[in-house]
Amino acid sequence: MNDILKSLIDIVGDKGVSNAPEELWFYARDPGVLSPHNPDYVVAPKTTEQVQKIVQLANREKIPIVPMGNGMALTGLVIPLKGGIVLDMKRMNKILEVNEKARYAVVEGGTSQGVLKAYLQEHYPHLRHSIPDAPPTTTIAANVALHGQGRLTNQYGFNSDMVTGMEIVLPTGEICLIGSPSLGPYWFSKGPTLPDLSGLFLGWLGATGVITKMELRLYPNKKIREVEMFVTDKVELVPEILYKLTHLEILEDVNVWFQPKPLMFVGNFHVTIYFNGDTEEEIEFKRKMIWDSLQEFIDSKDGGFMNVQYMKGMLLQMPQRGIADFADVPKGGGFEYSGPITIIEHFPQYAAKVVELAKRYDILYASSARLISGGHCMMFSISFAFNRSNPGMMKRVKEALDEATTFALEMGGIPWKPNFMEQKMTMKKMDPNALNLLQMIKKNLDPEGIMNPGNWEVN
Ligand SMILES: Cc1cc2nc3c(=O)[nH]c(=O)nc-3n(C[C@H](O)[C@H](O)[C@H](O)COP(=O)(O)OP(=O)(O)OC[C@H]3O[C@@H](n4cnc5c(N)ncnc54)[C@H](O)[C@@H]3O)c2cc1C
Repeated sequence: MNDILKSLIDIVGDKGVSNAPEELWFYARDPGVLSPHNPDYVVAPKTTEQVQKIVQLANREKIPIVPMGNGMALTGLVIPLKGGIVLDMKRMNKILEVNEKARYAVVEGGTSQGVLKAYLQEHYPHLRHSIPDAPPTTTIAANVALHGQGRLTNQYGFNSDMVTGMEIVLPTGEICLIGSPSLGPYWFSKGPTLPDLSGLFLGWLGATGVITKMELRLYPNKKIREVEMFVTDKVELVPEILYKLTHLEILEDVNVWFQPKPLMFVGNFHVTIYFNGDTEEEIEFKRKMIWDSLQEFIDSKDGGFMNVQYMKGMLLQMPQRGIADFADVPKGGGFEYSGPITIIEHFPQYAAKVVELAKRYDILYASSARLISGGHCMMFSISFAFNRSNPGMMKRVKEALDEATTFALEMGGIPWKPNFMEQKMTMKKMDPNALNLLQMIKKNLDPEGIMNPGNWEVN
């Protein structure tokens, strides 16, 4: 142990390494429902070369290594299930380049959403990235490592679809460039015409390598952002409403949410529709298109637009801070969500399941669905709040989430940011040849099984 500690200090300096119990306590857990597990060391590198040396050491000594951004995935993805090293990436937080005309930014692997947002606002106010509603301290690389979604996901797909180039430290220590940076200085593309190697790392939850640099697409930041909210009490109409809206191809983000508190929300499904433009004329034109597209539901008295003036400020926040407040509804503060990716037609069945689970397990729910890529699919979040000091409630939430995942798999959905148990359930259901392929990839990239072990563990 002492030799390893000394080697780690040699690599990053004594300020970047700890095995102090109070630090290990902190890095043993995340805010979700899974039980904690201590790492042996916490290491915070500052450069790709330091990451490389740490990974080489871990590979040589067969020590588990868990890349960590802000540890806010909620599903225990950075809990070091088998001990070892937590690689805290937060000191690698530089914005290396913004290419204005090609609209991309190159950032280090620990750069947070908030840092990039603030930088763009100051230096490139006409550019933006797809910001998730996660706290601004969460990191961009971690978000794409779990196929996150953000404010531009309806228009442009998963945030991981917006990554075009990466620098990866492989589990065996090689530094590898993916996409156009493998051929030249420009980070504009993951390479149509090249085999797309980005899939070996995106969605793998850090189990195939460490993202040390990455390029993220930027998009025009229009002068005006607007929001409308359509409400219906007919759950069976929600897929059709979403279909009509996505036909317009003008919406940056669409969320459908329902929750039992406060009372005025009960029984209603709220479709929040975000759009933008550079002029008032453009906004009013788009607003008319949105209203017209849903006129038939107004005529049939199945729904209507709600006046959102009083909550517009909150709705237009990026990230939307109110979401975190749900964690404290039962006081004692926490929430976790299972978020299957599924087809829009299944909205009514998922909605019924959430309400049924909340009732049966006597817990509080809030649910929302975010459309992806103009409606090709959606992320349906099944969120339950808990009071951390109430073990009975924690247990009930955990069981309800497990049941939600079983349901999602039965419905043909894909668990999103699955915890290690949900990953096992997913692999059990997977086509055996697809599973073999996963196994081949994992074994070849990570022969010693050191990267975030317990996650996508197919060996
Ligand atoms: C209130 C709230 C709202 C949220 N809203 C959203 C939302 O709108 N959209 C959304 O997508 N998510 C959302 N989340 C979930 C989550 O917080 C985000 O996905 C967030 O981006 C995770 O980032 P992180 O830095 O905390 O990740 P971490 O938990 O630190 O890491 C997540 C995974 O990525 C891996 N990883 C981390 N860094 C690297 C790296 N450099 N290289 C390789 N692998 C790495 C980790 O090993 C882990 O498997 C929300 C969470 C909360 C609490």
